[in-house]
Amino acid sequence: MSRNFNLKNKPEHNTESRIMNKEIFKDFLIKYAEIGIKGKNRYLFEDALIAHIQSALSRVEGKFSVYKTPGRIFVSALEEFDFDETVDAIKHVFGVAGICPIIRLEKGDPEDLKKSTVEYMHKMYEDDLSCTFKVFARRESKNYPLDSMQINAVVGEVILGEFPNLKVDVHHPDMIVYVEVRDHIYLYSEIIPGPGGMPVGTGGHAMLLLSGGIDSPVAGYMIAKRGVSLDAVYFHAPPYTSERALQKVVDLAKIISKYTGPIKLHVINFTDIQLAIYEKCPHDELTIIMRRYMMRIAQHLAEECGALALVTGESVGQVASQTLASLGCTNEVTDLPVLRPLIAFDKQDIVEISEKIGTYETSILPYEDCCTIFVAKHPVTKPLRKIIERHEGNLSEVIDDLLKAAYETERIIEI
Ligand code: ATP
Ligand code: MG
Repeated sequence: MSRNFNLKNKPEHNTESRIMNKEIFKDFLIKYAEIGIKGKNRYLFEDALIAHIQSALSRVEGKFSVYKTPGRIFVSALEEFDFDETVDAIKHVFGVAGICPIIRLEKGDPEDLKKSTVEYMHKMYEDDLSCTFKVFARRESKNYPLDSMQINAVVGEVILGEFPNLKVDVHHPDMIVYVEVRDHIYLYSEIIPGPGGMPVGTGGHAMLLLSGGIDSPVAGYMIAKRGVSLDAVYFHAPPYTSERALQKVVDLAKIISKYTGPIKLHVINFTDIQLAIYEKCPHDELTIIMRRYMMRIAQHLAEECGALALVTGESVGQVASQTLASLGCTNEVTDLPVLRPLIAFDKQDIVEISEKIGTYETSILPYEDCCTIFVAKHPVTKPLRKIIERHEGNLSEVIDDLLKAAYETERIIEI
């Protein structure tokens, strides 16, 4: 059966499935997007990206060399390796726009290039491959007898001669065969999409408020995608919340750490603070007061670890504590910027991202959360700062000791 591909081999299209012979590859060209526009600091971003790719590959069997040449990052396998596992590891590295399995050729003379391209195409694709294509050559090193237009012409011609169902379309081809002439000649025609974003750590450090829900792991993923590394804090309320609920949060942190790199998870025992709020404050204000204490504690931990912002999974209007008035009221207790990447997302859109990044199945496990245990039937949706502050005053005799105890009993789990 002839394979008629409508997919284009741009990074946003997944063309991995049309690679027939993965065993012909031992080198990859890594495409990166926004790093390219960082001017003089570009090398910092490239070096961070290389370090993250190395760290991702350290979990994969085999030895790899990750290195850069001007404008390009390469991964070369130095021994036997598993193609799928390797690509999957690189796919989790923020900053990677695309992963191109490449063939590296000696420069030789143009006849060698023609022969090798034909060989490559036969190994990659079935002979009745039917779609449009073009050749896109770049000659970075001028000591090669053909310029890029000439390479396009001769390589295009030889491919047409071998694959009768291919047609040239220079404007909207289904497939592009890239020929890059540098220290070697690099040949590739498939770009497996990476996650995009910026290398983690190049955008500073933040503290994620990580609950066991659907939203906060997605929020952490999204901020890390912009290059921000994370610590996380979980407010635990034993015996009202179980060890299994804590384990669920640990599991979620593990899943997102595949993208974000190592996370320090701070587990704060919140029970006594919640009980005090329950005992001394009006019940319709429990949630908002509780959230204000979460923010205060998160800020304290953030300052200790050099985090410059707090991150939450809040979204306007999702629940009573996420009305604009409530968000304003929780913001007041911290000087740090509160990043809420999901603020304008519908729940369904958040669910889709959580499915894509692999947190959804864990997030929906039915373990209790500290917020749901001490929740009022009719929580305030328009809290007034003065009134909330007055009621928080009811805690004045106990709160310093309770906060001190919470910090003293903090547990740190390295993820
Ligand atoms: P999620 O799905 O992330 O739990 P949610 O819709 O259940 O969100 P809330 O319970 O109001 O919303 O929490 C809003 C945000 O507050 C969460 O996204 C998270 O950032 C933070 N948060 C809530 N509970 C906790 C907790 N126990 N520990 C740490 N952070 C929490
Ligand atoms: Mg929650």
